[in-house]
Amino acid sequence: MILKNGKIVLEHKIIEKGYLVIHDKKIIDIVEGTTDEFGVDLKGNWVLPGFIDCHVHGGYGVDFETGDTNRFEHFALNVGKEGITKYCQASITNSLGFTNKIYKEFGDFMSKSNKQGAICLGAHMEGPFISPAKKGAHDPKLLINPDIEITKHWNELAKNNIKIITYAGELQDGSYTKYLIENDILPSIGHTDMLAQEFDKDWKLGVKHITHLFNGMSGVDHYRPGLAVAALNHDDVVVEVISDGIHLQPEILKMIFDHKGPDKISIITDAMNAKGLPDGEYKIGQLPVIKTGMKVALKDSGVLAAAGATYDHNVRVYYNTCKMEMTDLIKMTSINAAKQLNVYEQTGSLAPNKLADIVVLDKNLKVLKTIAEGRVIFENNEY
Ligand SMILES: [Zn+2]
Repeated sequence: MILKNGKIVLEHKIIEKGYLVIHDKKIIDIVEGTTDEFGVDLKGNWVLPGFIDCHVHGGYGVDFETGDTNRFEHFALNVGKEGITKYCQASITNSLGFTNKIYKEFGDFMSKSNKQGAICLGAHMEGPFISPAKKGAHDPKLLINPDIEITKHWNELAKNNIKIITYAGELQDGSYTKYLIENDILPSIGHTDMLAQEFDKDWKLGVKHITHLFNGMSGVDHYRPGLAVAALNHDDVVVEVISDGIHLQPEILKMIFDHKGPDKISIITDAMNAKGLPDGEYKIGQLPVIKTGMKVALKDSGVLAAAGATYDHNVRVYYNTCKMEMTDLIKMTSINAAKQLNVYEQTGSLAPNKLADIVVLDKNLKVLKTIAEGRVIFENNEY
């Protein structure tokens, strides 16, 4: 397949008019100029690496908790609409027994060959190892301290597909952090009430990832600086950002961008099962929630419970807030997540020999076409 007449965003430069040659799963060549060979005419639209969402619970009626192989696949088939080509599916806090069940289902899904749609890189386990003081929509009765034996068990059930674990650093003495690093699971501190200086213990052990900065954590209090402050102060730490314009106001998005820079931000959705569905009443676990536009709130209290925005929406919000260079935007949507998840050699940027994970966007950053490992998984028929 040839994609021609595109404005191609490479890691360090933009080709104003060029074409990509794709064979099987990979990009074979990227060339400046045009070609007479038969190809898809991109009419001057943007060509970016496919988006990588390292923290998404669900959407299109599916979430981790209700997933089986077919439903996980339904999700993978639908996220192409948002420009996503790779993602980590996130679980929330459940009982130990129920978590056994869902991780086994997930393991079965992951071991299936012949994948359709976007490709799941693994699970992001968010809970139960989090702080009751910053529990968000997690059930406080089910929270426990980080536990190596339980983690081992779930990862076995998941057929070794747990890629990220969010946990509260203050609930362990560093041994859990060490265990994760030694077992190639990305440690991510979040849902925590820790003090900024308490983060040093885990940072020195190698923690370089923070779960949805500002949301579900101790914040900027000048007498009691929390994890948000430590995350901003440590230059080598990547922060997940829910840039839906609801979880963080534009002024905060700007502050994060100015402090961290594009090299250390990873845009996520944190979306739940109602993403991509009409407004109305849905459930997170047993809790009824109301989805209104991109917003999802608990039915009883009106408190924000989860996210309902699509990835491309979050990309547009961040872009329109900070108007960064496109070469910087792709770090926040693809490159940084690929590096954190150890798949950067294969994906995350457009280069010969990398996987053909590609999103085509119009001038307003609306998704026109998504290609995952050389397969077209979404096409906007209007263009
Ligand atoms: Zn989450």
